Amino acid sequence: MIENGKQATLVELIDVVKTFPGEVEALRNFSLGVEDGDFVSLLGPSGCGKSTALRLIAGLAEPTSGRIEWNVEHGAGSVGVVFQEPTLMPWATVEKNVWLPLRLNGLSLRSARPEIDAALRMVKLDGCEKMFPRQLSGGMKMRVSIARALATRPSVILMDEPFASLDEITRFKLNNDLLELKEKTGCTIIFVTHSIFESVFLSRRIAIMSSRPGQVIRTLEIDAPYPRSEEFRTSAEYLQYCSAASAALQDSMKPNHDFVERCKT
Ligand code: ADP
Ligand code: MG
Repeated sequence: MIENGKQATLVELIDVVKTFPGEVEALRNFSLGVEDGDFVSLLGPSGCGKSTALRLIAGLAEPTSGRIEWNVEHGAGSVGVVFQEPTLMPWATVEKNVWLPLRLNGLSLRSARPEIDAALRMVKLDGCEKMFPRQLSGGMKMRVSIARALATRPSVILMDEPFASLDEITRFKLNNDLLELKEKTGCTIIFVTHSIFESVFLSRRIAIMSSRPGQVIRTLEIDAPYPRSEEFRTSAEYLQYCSAASAALQDSMKPNHDFVERCKT
């Protein structure tokens, strides 16, 4: 949706704080706006609160303070989540794994069939319906996990380092296919990664986080047009964006980044 020439904000996190028992402050004044149809990556070092932020957006946990505001036209209910591990039911076939969220919505396998088939086509696994997870490679298992998240046709997909345990070649292939399915579905993607290269290839915007307590220190726009292909991945422009993201990340991990920023001005 366009408002005054700008994309509408789909979800906004405003000064979100998340403290766990034992005074572990995972997020402090975490603020981020995500536009409808955006591809935003949260990039930051291990333990900086990326998964915590994603779980809050997914509604799987509540902020200690601060607010998460959804544009009501889109609704907060329509969210799909993909975790680092595919978390498939080993005893169930591919189609029955993808059926799960639809079954929870009360649909029989028969009536869910069109949605299951569409989701499997979207991740290029049509023809694999009757296979079991043990018969699949790591990349295929992750494709099933993505299909399961797509089955309910969510307007937002939250992905928590989904490709971190895959080999690089498989990861590149899944990165390409993820951009393709985003183009097809028009969904918004919020993607957590600690890979600079992956975040630059995929995102329109990268939110760079500080070390814990996590905070968005700066956002980097990746202005390269979509669709992005191998040509972009091997371009000088891509490498320049990777260097800029790397420098911003190094800066954000300095212990007193606020102080450092003040000294620069
Ligand atoms: P990331 O995903 O960036 O690696 P997390 O969001 O998983 O980071 O964790 C941020 C911090 O919060 C870490 O120090 C982690 O140990 C802590 N943490 C995360 N979840 C919990 C929890 N349920 N209880 C206590 N501490 C937690
Ligand atoms: Mg994490």
